Amino acid sequence: MSSILTKVKDSRSYKNESDYILDVKDLKKHFPIKAGFLQKTVGSVKAVDGLTFNVKKGETIGIVGESGCGKSTAGRTLIRLYEPTGGDIIFKGRNISKMSEGELRRTIRKDIQMVFQDPYASLNPRKTLKSILSEPMITHNLYGLKERSEKIQDLLDKVGFNPLFINRYPHEFSGGQRQRIGIARALALNPDLIIADEPVSALDVSIQAQIINLMEDLQAELGLTYVFISHDLSVVRHISDRVGVMYLGKIMEFAGKKDLYEDPLHPYTQALMSAVPVPKRKGVQARERIILKGDLPSPANPPRGCVFHTRCPAATDICSQVVPEYKEIKHDHFVACHLY
Ligand code: SF4
Repeated sequence: MSSILTKVKDSRSYKNESDYILDVKDLKKHFPIKAGFLQKTVGSVKAVDGLTFNVKKGETIGIVGESGCGKSTAGRTLIRLYEPTGGDIIFKGRNISKMSEGELRRTIRKDIQMVFQDPYASLNPRKTLKSILSEPMITHNLYGLKERSEKIQDLLDKVGFNPLFINRYPHEFSGGQRQRIGIARALALNPDLIIADEPVSALDVSIQAQIINLMEDLQAELGLTYVFISHDLSVVRHISDRVGVMYLGKIMEFAGKKDLYEDPLHPYTQALMSAVPVPKRKGVQARERIILKGDLPSPANPPRGCVFHTRCPAATDICSQVVPEYKEIKHDHFVACHLY
């Protein structure tokens, strides 16, 4: 994948905390498990169980992990499509985790948008491209008729679409084109932050590269900030500035991508990285493959102590008893593991 992605991201520097656009503190999303005739709550699925990270303006945060680790739930909770069970989401200095829907709509609803994995499922098949792109502007009462039409032309231009397609329906487009529509729709309200949930995983590899390059171009042009959620380590490495690795609803490690990919500290990150093929080059040592035993445990019944201890090759007695603290080991490099 990375070989066909031609662009290399510039490293960016940030001066202080006021550069943060999003600050997530101990975010939780638990889904109740109901049973019996009276549908009593008998437990909960801890899909997201204590995420802490921040996002600086203009950067891309990658969230990576196996399927079922809670990363998509995290994305939907960040944008308040799911109600958080606990924790705080501070967006542009305001705590949005407990805002009412009305307050969200009046203040920041249009500033955070989402791009979904399956563009076809997220587009109304009975609406033309024109009405799909107008809808968010109408809902938020933005622009008059003429300006709206100009805005649509501009959006089509930004995502590389022929303006003649304006009256076509979603089924008349390819998967890559539909994802371009999904991105154009997300841009219709001039957002600051885009949460992209597996935006390229349903696409062919060559199309993936086009969409990633488009997202990077739009970021440079519009100053967008991305939270990019994916199971694909190579794609995340390419697009991200910093990366969080999730396992069973928690972040195990969070660091700048160079640190994380070249010197992973957490045993789970090390296992994930060991599965990525390294091209044979002089001076580059192949990593020994670490095979994890067992399956991902159920988030309805996560292991005690460190949630990774049932599969961790480095586990000791304390790991099954005490939850490791998520702490900064090196500058801007956070790890939750008793080894550190
Ligand atoms: Fe492994 Fe223990 Fe570290 Fe968890 S805390 S990752 S079980 S060594």
